[in-house]
Amino acid sequence: MAEFTVLRGDITLSQVDAIVNAANTTLLGGGGVDGAIHRAAGPELFEACVPFNGCPTGEARITPGFKLPAKWVIHTPGPIWHGGQEHEAELLADCYRNSLKVAMAHDCRTVDFPSISTGVYGYPLDEAAAVATQTIATVLGHTTTLEQVRLVAFDDLTATAYRTAWANLVD
Ligand code: ADP
Repeated sequence: MAEFTVLRGDITLSQVDAIVNAANTTLLGGGGVDGAIHRAAGPELFEACVPFNGCPTGEARITPGFKLPAKWVIHTPGPIWHGGQEHEAELLADCYRNSLKVAMAHDCRTVDFPSISTGVYGYPLDEAAAVATQTIATVLGHTTTLEQVRLVAFDDLTATAYRTAWANLVD
């Protein structure tokens, strides 16, 4: 069984097969983790994203990691929180599921996620953590190729939310 762990850190430093980028639908860069990933990967990442012509919320696209230690970057636009009645939970689950699907299609064994949608997109942290951990657990229960999936939290509050959500799953 592949393992899931939560750590505090900066995802641009992750030495894994793939990191996931909490992108926007243009895929052309933005603030937060998206900006940090583009800065660390270098301008080639932007050039590699242009031909996609954007990406719908919940889907995922893959590029090389360029100057990043990670081999690949999987770009997924998370849902913007509008109060919870606009399919936000389904779309957030799609982000995690589709990112892992793309990772497996590229023979990735180790994948790191940021906390998708809980920054400027305003998704309530505890609710996002519940959706993310449930979705990751379901995929890990079926995969034969993934070895490790990690949630890289940029702050303590985020790390605690995902650790709590994961612990509540097995109760
Ligand atoms: P979104 O638009 O999906 O809400 P943000 O980038 O605004 O995306 O925030 C998503 C999460 O990523 C937030 O918890 C933010 O603190 C975190 N974050 C920002 N920079 C990094 C980084 N370098 N590594 C990991 N997480 C980061």
